[in-house]
Amino acid sequence: MEIHWHRNDLRATDNVGLAAAESDVLPVFVFDDQVLDHGSPPRVAFMLDALAELRSWYREQGGDLHVAHGDPSAVLPDLAAEHGVETVHYNVDYSGLAQERDRAVRAALSDAGVSATTHQDALHHEPGSITTNAGDPYSVYTYFWRKWRDREKEEPYDAPEDIADVSGRSLPTLDELGFEEPTADVDEAGMTTARERLDAFVDGPIYEYAEERDDPATSKTSRLSPHLRWGTVGPRTVYAATERAAADAPDEDAAKSVEEFQGELAWREFYHHVLHFNPEVVTQNYKEYEEGIDWHDDPDEIAAWKEGRTGYPIVDAGMRQLREEAWMHNRVRMIVASFLTKDLMADWRHGYAHFRDHLVDHNTASDNGGWQWAASTGTDAQPYFRIFNPMTQGERYDPNAKYIREYVPELAGVNPDTIHSWHEADEETREFAAPDYPAPIVDHGERREQALAMFKRARGEDPDE
Ligand SMILES: Cc1cc2nc3c(=O)[nH]c(=O)nc-3n(C[C@H](O)[C@H](O)[C@H](O)COP(=O)(O)OP(=O)(O)OC[C@H]3O[C@@H](n4cnc5c(N)ncnc54)[C@H](O)[C@@H]3O)c2cc1C
Repeated sequence: MEIHWHRNDLRATDNVGLAAAESDVLPVFVFDDQVLDHGSPPRVAFMLDALAELRSWYREQGGDLHVAHGDPSAVLPDLAAEHGVETVHYNVDYSGLAQERDRAVRAALSDAGVSATTHQDALHHEPGSITTNAGDPYSVYTYFWRKWRDREKEEPYDAPEDIADVSGRSLPTLDELGFEEPTADVDEAGMTTARERLDAFVDGPIYEYAEERDDPATSKTSRLSPHLRWGTVGPRTVYAATERAAADAPDEDAAKSVEEFQGELAWREFYHHVLHFNPEVVTQNYKEYEEGIDWHDDPDEIAAWKEGRTGYPIVDAGMRQLREEAWMHNRVRMIVASFLTKDLMADWRHGYAHFRDHLVDHNTASDNGGWQWAASTGTDAQPYFRIFNPMTQGERYDPNAKYIREYVPELAGVNPDTIHSWHEADEETREFAAPDYPAPIVDHGERREQALAMFKRARGEDPDE
C-alpha cells in the first residue's frame, strides 16, 4: 500500500502523484489547522464541496478517501505505520507556507523510515525549467510565453484503479472548522463541474475568447480559475482540450483565439515561477524603488473601495461582484486594482489582502502577480507608470453598462451615457438619476497627477519635471 496525500489537487484523474502510487493506493486528506488559519469562507466552502465529491468518487470505486485532522507531520507517519506504508506521494505546492510544512512532514516521515516522493503536477513546466539562455528566470512574460508555448506538454494521467478502503473521520462542516457560511454565492466545486465547464468552453466560447474575453457582461471566459486553484481539473487535461479545439478550429482567427487562451494558462505558470524565485514578493515590491513609495493610504477611501461605493461605476460593479460571487472578471480586476493603487494611491497590499479574503480562486502567485503588475511594482514590462482611466475603461469594455447595472442596482434604471459620465454630472443630475449612488470620491485627473508625482519621488526624480 502507498499513500497519496491530497492537498491542492482534489481530483482523481490527471493527478501525477496519485498516478505514481503503485498499488492499493490509500488517498488521504488532512485538515491542518495551520493551513486553515489562512483560509477564508468561500475558499474553504469550495474545498469542502470538492472533497465531498472526491470522496464519493473513491467510494464508487470500492475504496475511500481517508480524512484526518491534525498536524500532517504526526498524522502521516502514524497512518503509514498503522498500514505498513513505505511511501507517501504528494504533489509540490509552491506557496511559502506549504513549503515550510512540507519540509517538516518530509523530516517526520524520514524519521519514521517512510520515504516521501514529490511530484510536479500543478504546472506543465516547473520553476527553473524555462529560463533565459543564461539560465536566469524570466522577469518579462512575453519571452517566457514563447518558450512555454513551444515546449512539449505531457498528456493527462489516468485515474488509479486499485484504491484502499481505509476511512477516517467524516468530513467536517464549515462551522466545525470555525468558518462562517460564505455570504457570496460560490461557484459549484468538484471534478464533474470542472469537466463540464471545460467541455462547454472548448466546444465554442474558446473560439471567441480573443474577441470576447474583455467583456465582463457576457462572461465568456472559462471560469476555470477556482478549479485550477483547487486542482479539481488537471492542467494537462485543460491543455489537451485546448489542443483538440485548436485542431478543430474552423478558421485562422479561431485558432489564434485558442492560442490566446493558452497564453493565459501560461500567465498562471509565469507567476508561479516568479513567486518561486522571489518568495519575498508576498510582502515586498518585486520592483525596487530607491526611495520607497509613500502611499497615501486613506482608510476611508480604502473602505469605500472595498464596499463598492467609490462613485466610479465600473470599479463599484467589480467590487460588488467580488462580494456576491467570490470571483471577479479579469478586466475588472485590472481596473479595480489600478484604481486602488493609482487613483486612491493605496498600497497594493491592502488590495491583495482583500482579494485573498474574498476570492474563491485566490492563489498567492497569481494574486500577488496581478496586484504588483497593476501597482507598477511588479513584472509589467511598461517602462512608465500605467494608469487606467476608470471612466474610459468602463465605456470601452461595458459600453451598454450591462455589467454595471447588473451589480450596482442603484444604477439599474440609469442610461449608459449618464453612467459613463458620472464623474462629470452635476449634483442635480446625480440626485435625479440615482439618489442613492455616491458622487466620485476622488477626481481622476487630479489623482493621476499626484500618483505620477508619487512614483517619480519613489524613483528619486523631481516630480515637477
Ligand atoms: C489584481 C489581480 C488579482 C488576481 N488574482 C488572481 C488569483 O488570485 N487567482 C487566479 O487564478 N487569478 C487571478 N488573477 C488573474 C485573472 O484575473 C483570473 O485568473 C481570471 O479572471 C479567472 O477567470 P477565468 O478562469 O474565467 O479566466 P480565463 O480567462 O478563462 O483564463 C483561464 C485560466 O488562465 C489563468 N489566467 C488567466 N488570466 C490570468 C492572469 N492574468 N494571471 C494568472 N493566471 C491567469 C487562470 O488560471 C484562468 O482560470 C488576478 C488578476 C488581477 C489583475
